Amino acid sequence: MENLTKALKDNDMNEDTAVYLKQVHGDEIYIVNKDNYREIKEKFGDALITNEKGIPLGVFTADCVPIIVIDIKNEVIAVVHSGWKGTHKEILRKTIEKMVKEFNSKTENIYVVLGPAIAFCCFEVGEDVFNKFTYKEKRDGKNYVDLYLENKKQVIDLGISDENIFISNICTKCNNDLFYSYRVNNNTGRIGTFISL
Ligand SMILES: [Zn+2]
Repeated sequence: MENLTKALKDNDMNEDTAVYLKQVHGDEIYIVNKDNYREIKEKFGDALITNEKGIPLGVFTADCVPIIVIDIKNEVIAVVHSGWKGTHKEILRKTIEKMVKEFNSKTENIYVVLGPAIAFCCFEVGEDVFNKFTYKEKRDGKNYVDLYLENKKQVIDLGISDENIFISNICTKCNNDLFYSYRVNNNTGRIGTFISL
């Protein structure tokens, strides 16, 4: 957690009010504010939304897709942890729908950033997982799924423009010298993705 303390400090984010969940590959989404942030920190879940300043929101990943959503007009932010399970449960779509419902976010003002994750080059899965998805292919008898495109589709389906979606396309497994990859390092660490208003 030393890295985290430094990263937040370097980005002028308040570590005391920073919120991140006990991630469980589910689709539980929480709205955070100054009154509830302490209790939210103790919750199990995989997405956070706030429209309050000074509450940094974070997710930790090491192959799963870390996602940031921003409504630039109403000033609402969200972070989403989306591995294959979260992707299958459409947690990204549900998070944006919650922003629309609770904060009146308009799709034209929403921007989505998909951070470093295990990419199509490396995300090999079993037959059961393979069968759940659309963006996939078989190579040399192995099954691969594209989590970036699966998540992008959820955003496009909500009517958000292609131009508002930014995919880092940095594979954590191929770039293991730069990023933690669960498939390479197993349990050594996580990439923290934070945003604050
Ligand atoms: Zn790769």
